[in-house]
Amino acid sequence: MTMYKISNDQVVYAMDAGNAPVLTVNSGSRIEFETVDALSGQITSEADQFDALDWNRVNPATGPVYINDAQPGDALAVTIERIDVADVGVTITGSNMGVLGNVLQENTIKVIPIRDGKAIFSDKVHLPLNKMVGVIGTAPAGAGISCGVPCAHGGNMDCKEVREGATVILPVNVPGALLAMGDLHAVMADGEVCVSGLEVAGSVTVSIKLIKGANLPLPMIMRDSHVMTLASHEDLDEAVNMAVRNMVSYLCDKHDFDKAEAAMLISLAGDVRICQVVDPKKTARVELLKEYL
Ligand code: CA
Repeated sequence: MTMYKISNDQVVYAMDAGNAPVLTVNSGSRIEFETVDALSGQITSEADQFDALDWNRVNPATGPVYINDAQPGDALAVTIERIDVADVGVTITGSNMGVLGNVLQENTIKVIPIRDGKAIFSDKVHLPLNKMVGVIGTAPAGAGISCGVPCAHGGNMDCKEVREGATVILPVNVPGALLAMGDLHAVMADGEVCVSGLEVAGSVTVSIKLIKGANLPLPMIMRDSHVMTLASHEDLDEAVNMAVRNMVSYLCDKHDFDKAEAAMLISLAGDVRICQVVDPKKTARVELLKEYL
């Protein structure tokens, strides 16, 4: 497998069909994406001020990559082989940010060291890392979409299941797909309620396979154990509805269920979970054990 590397100065702030590719590869390639954190490394100290932040430089994604022969209607299977993170990250919250945005008056920055596979949240609380990729997507057809927004093309889904060993399946909406990713989190829980994970720079090594004429309800995540459908919408209820409908479609189209049987199987054995509730669109997922298929 040919191995490529993209440095972290090759970034975009929107997934857009008009973005010039920084690399062109064939299906079957491996790529290491070096990434900056979601704030482009602008915050390095708890003494830094929010007022000085350049909000035009948030949520960068490294790329995009043009995949030869990828055409609308295909899908891209992106297997996350490895995630490496820096030895320090940052978490922010405050006024107008996250679930407590209407309660908190002050903006707060927490710089969190990472040592021996743990995030040192405080003297007492050392959190095991669950390294994940917050932003991963392809260019949408039509107008570009800010990397801060999740949608059917992927984007800022902030899903903790986008981690080592997972295969993220994304739609190809434009020729070449234009894959980009960034926004690593060293630690994050479902919900991401304060508006940020442990935002961190690092690198992601992936392998890419093109699925011609995929006919899949995307985006999805495949693990050895589970299949997952994801959906994003301004309204969390609707995001849940969409993720469930996507799983029903998958079960009916690929595994010969009828709709009622699929709905019952999900009700009995498919976990509906929240990825995040703090981005411009909220993201939900449905997880089902593959052994039932
Ligand atoms: Ca994010």
